[in-house]
Amino acid sequence: MENNFKISIVIPCYNEEDNIIPLTEILLKTLKKYNDYEIIFVDDGSYDKTLKKIKEIRNKNKKIKIISFSRNFGHQNAIKAGFDYSTGDCVISLDSDLQHPPGLIDEMIEKWQEGYQVVYAVRNNFKSLGFFKRTTSKLFYKIINSISDVKMTYNAADFRLIDREVVNAIKQFKENYLYIRGIVSWVGFKQTTIKYKQEKRFSGESKYSLKKMIKFALSGITSFSIKPLKLSLILGFIISFFSFLYGLYALYIAFFTDRAITGWTSVIVSVLFIGGIQLFMIGVLGEYLGKLFMENKRRPNYIIKDKEF
Ligand code: UDP
Ligand code: MG
Repeated sequence: MENNFKISIVIPCYNEEDNIIPLTEILLKTLKKYNDYEIIFVDDGSYDKTLKKIKEIRNKNKKIKIISFSRNFGHQNAIKAGFDYSTGDCVISLDSDLQHPPGLIDEMIEKWQEGYQVVYAVRNNFKSLGFFKRTTSKLFYKIINSISDVKMTYNAADFRLIDREVVNAIKQFKENYLYIRGIVSWVGFKQTTIKYKQEKRFSGESKYSLKKMIKFALSGITSFSIKPLKLSLILGFIISFFSFLYGLYALYIAFFTDRAITGWTSVIVSVLFIGGIQLFMIGVLGEYLGKLFMENKRRPNYIIKDKEF
């Protein structure tokens, strides 16, 4: 195989001190057969020995590059920083916890050589995920695919290869609420998927708490769809229609029967129901308004305190 191209590997890490060295060893073995590559570790404000470990290996191998954030800016921003500074003809992003087997890189490169510009790795063993994460993630993809204009591949995590052309397209995105999975599917190009078996985390704990997961899911939905905003219109319409019918019924009761006072249950139920929907819709409005407010500041996605290239 002709291989005079350069591969960039982008690895976001947040407190992954015990994963850095084992991961790098495997990666270097895999990458040996390629002419040129770089491994960009993006330290997302870790407060353990992650950065120290990365520096150790960097001292032995200058193909290892370091970007270190001034604080924790989140997984998505870390990947974006890696894209921004990458110089390869293709860029592969993977997690630092060895859940994304580096062995798959060869298969990704093959697909890329066949002409695909985005190669997603899709995990095929959801069972290992745990019931909660599995159900919530399924639900999330159902919701997002039914209400947004881009189709996101179910079970594709942030383990993928993208071509330089796609990287350049993504570099133009200046939004603060990054949802890279959505963006990659939004930009188009020739995309394909390969399957892999997701491994257990090598060391440490998941950095995605329930709170972070919910935030991430909400950000994904509100970044790619304004349909929730239209919900109030639809709900309002339906409720008005039924209210009208019920109004007619109430008039009928009042004028043509002697059962007029017995309406307490229906009053309380409808008041609570409409109140609930109103609060919900105000929440939806608030979510978008808040986002507008934050985006309007045009803050940078991340601040780098240390960089070795
Ligand atoms: N990560 C990060 N910043 C964060 C949270 C996570 O850079 O604020 C990194 C983390 O070190 C890992 C990857 O993102 O390399 C995926 O996180 P994790 O494995 O904790 O998520 P899970 O696989 O449990 O969904
Ligand atoms: Mg993980």
